[in-house]
Amino acid sequence: MKKKIAIIGSGIAGLTLGNLLKKNSQISFKIYEREDGLVIKEGYGIQLSVNCISILRDLDFDLIDKKKMYHPQKLNFFSIANNKICDLDLTKFNTKNNKYTTLRRSVLVEFLREKLFKENLKFNKEIKKISEMKDKILINFTDNTNDLVDYLFVCDGIFSNTKKIIEKKPPLPEFSKAFAIRSIVKSSDVNEVDSHNISLFMGSKSHVVTYPINQKGELNVVCIIRSNQKNIDDPKDFLEKHIFNQSKKLKNLFINQLEVWPIYVNDKFFKSPNKKIFYLGDSLHAMLPSMAQGAAQSIEGAYELYSLLNKNIKNFEDIYYETRFKKIKPIKKRSKINYFAFHLSSNFFKKIRNFMLRKLVKNEKFLKSYLGKVYN
Ligand SMILES: Cc1cc2nc3c(=O)[nH]c(=O)nc-3n(C[C@H](O)[C@H](O)[C@H](O)COP(=O)(O)OP(=O)(O)OC[C@H]3O[C@@H](n4cnc5c(N)ncnc54)[C@H](O)[C@@H]3O)c2cc1C
Repeated sequence: MKKKIAIIGSGIAGLTLGNLLKKNSQISFKIYEREDGLVIKEGYGIQLSVNCISILRDLDFDLIDKKKMYHPQKLNFFSIANNKICDLDLTKFNTKNNKYTTLRRSVLVEFLREKLFKENLKFNKEIKKISEMKDKILINFTDNTNDLVDYLFVCDGIFSNTKKIIEKKPPLPEFSKAFAIRSIVKSSDVNEVDSHNISLFMGSKSHVVTYPINQKGELNVVCIIRSNQKNIDDPKDFLEKHIFNQSKKLKNLFINQLEVWPIYVNDKFFKSPNKKIFYLGDSLHAMLPSMAQGAAQSIEGAYELYSLLNKNIKNFEDIYYETRFKKIKPIKKRSKINYFAFHLSSNFFKKIRNFMLRKLVKNEKFLKSYLGKVYN
């Protein structure tokens, strides 16, 4: 008998998992998405390291129009005043076919959606209740429909409403007292910025990252600023106080529409007591964006779940969570170290950091351990 699976959420985690499950004829699945699926917001950029590119290539990622993506070759480190410190060669981690890739998130989502059959993807669906029925899971939706499945994979993001419905006391995501301000800018409007590579500008309690997202000369701009404020009403004013007061040179990056995102993290690794329910992606491990690994880890997690299902191992939840935990723990640690180092305020410590950075980007042993382990 075919295994029946429900996936909640059609973000990168849910869609990757759906595309992988499509390959197994012994599995039938549906993805339930809360939003109506008519429009995909163009949105902002995403960096995909080689660890997830190899998985996406198995899903025909190579068929995406090459003009809609970019392969940056290095990561430039700058002070916020735009003085170059050093750069890191990203191609070290590439293989012949798997290259560090940047693109709009919407390009990836659209590609993954288009590859699914219509009956696999249901929009305007939100869970009302979950109950156990013998060894199955009964899902009741708010539109009074239901589904009885063998497994439930929860991929509904950092604020996972499904988790709140299912679990008695789930840990809540924590506000990291930082905001991301995102924008897209034409490289021709910012001549001073490297339009072919990733650039990181490090300031006091803040950093700005730019990278190309396609061959049309569009750059993604994301700025992370620490602040105790509860919300931001005027992003321009906020940037003025936190970034442009340190350097006016980056002003041109923020001339277009700006979007503000408070940054939340899921620091506690939560495993459902129900062996048929699995959390994946940001609903399991949302982290600080300073390693750019959130989406990559959602994709890796989807692949791990799919492989375990394929092997037909019973009660595979321990293996799944142990493998995820082993991979995520060091990434979270590195994200925190990066975050701390990027945001130093004291000139003395900045000098030491810059000195160390110049050494470390050339130290093969360090790179193999700090980044190689993540990108493998
Ligand atoms: C500023 C910033 C920059 C980032 N940059 C990068 C980067 O460069 N590289 C990288 O790898 N990662 C990056 N990330 C992280 C990355 O975007 C996320 O980790 C990734 O998108 C998580 O995917 P997901 O599928 O788990 O969740 P999401 O993308 O949040 O998708 C969840 C889906 O579930 C749906 N949903 C929500 N609630 C319900 C419900 N109750 N019922 C049904 N459906 C529901 C939502 O509509 C959505 O479609 C960044 C994050 C931030 C904040």
